[in-house]
Amino acid sequence: MGRIIAIANQKGGVGKTTTAVNLAACMAAADRRVLLVDLDPQGNATQGLGIDKNAIENTLYDVLVNEVPIAEAIQPTEIANLAIIPSNRELVGAEVELVSMNGREGLLRSALASVQGTYDYLFVDCPPSLSLLTVNGLTAAEGVIIPLQCEYYALEGLSELLQTIIRVRDNLNAGLSVLGVLLTMYQHTNLARQVIDDVRGHLGAKVFQTIIPRNVTLSEAPSFGKPVIYYDLKSAGAQAYLALAREVIARG
Ligand code: ATP
Ligand code: MG
Repeated sequence: MGRIIAIANQKGGVGKTTTAVNLAACMAAADRRVLLVDLDPQGNATQGLGIDKNAIENTLYDVLVNEVPIAEAIQPTEIANLAIIPSNRELVGAEVELVSMNGREGLLRSALASVQGTYDYLFVDCPPSLSLLTVNGLTAAEGVIIPLQCEYYALEGLSELLQTIIRVRDNLNAGLSVLGVLLTMYQHTNLARQVIDDVRGHLGAKVFQTIIPRNVTLSEAPSFGKPVIYYDLKSAGAQAYLALAREVIARG
């Protein structure tokens, strides 16, 4: 069975989508069969893989709300071994429409169950909130990767996220755990080094050894609809995500 890994942090702009897209692509390049699930109405992961989010026939919304079979929403990408379930603004409506449904927290989990055996890894790019969508991501997942930006307020909001993860584990998904905390957008400054020490002091071995540097190539690649390893393999960003992929594989 494929491993479902959610990339989550309710803080905006910390590198969730960049991590989801690039980790997925690095795993696919390592011959793993990968499905990227875009659980964010912003559709950034969808766009980051070069898919026009306004011209998609079936989205994750159709799977969750309209009971469209999941196979009809899975799209191949230009990258071998990498498929995606795209999303766009429509998914905003799911928050409202699912509220009254029985088992609303487990809809993504149920939807993915039928295709989980087809993939080695299924990465779920969560939106910047602790909404019902994110709870669906956490209920489907066995592991969570939490990106934290290397800035002064890095740990702010983390306890709320960890409480949500514990609540989901206790009530909905006993198999859930934090796979790792990922430090992102690192710049060589005294402050950033202090933040790293601080985060490692608090979270110890849960923090990935790999640190993602602030690297302009990582922010350029999505506008070409490409993961960074297909845009500039030699860039520091590409090398960092390859290292992260190795570390995730090593963590089992
Ligand atoms: P949201 O909460 O809105 O979903 P996010 O957590 O998914 O945001 P990203 O979209 O991955 O964050 O990143 C936010 C912005 O920072 C994007 O413009 C992205 O290209 C850029 N970015 C992410 N990581 C890096 C990095 N390591 N170096 C430089 N730019 C980065
Ligand atoms: Mg995002």
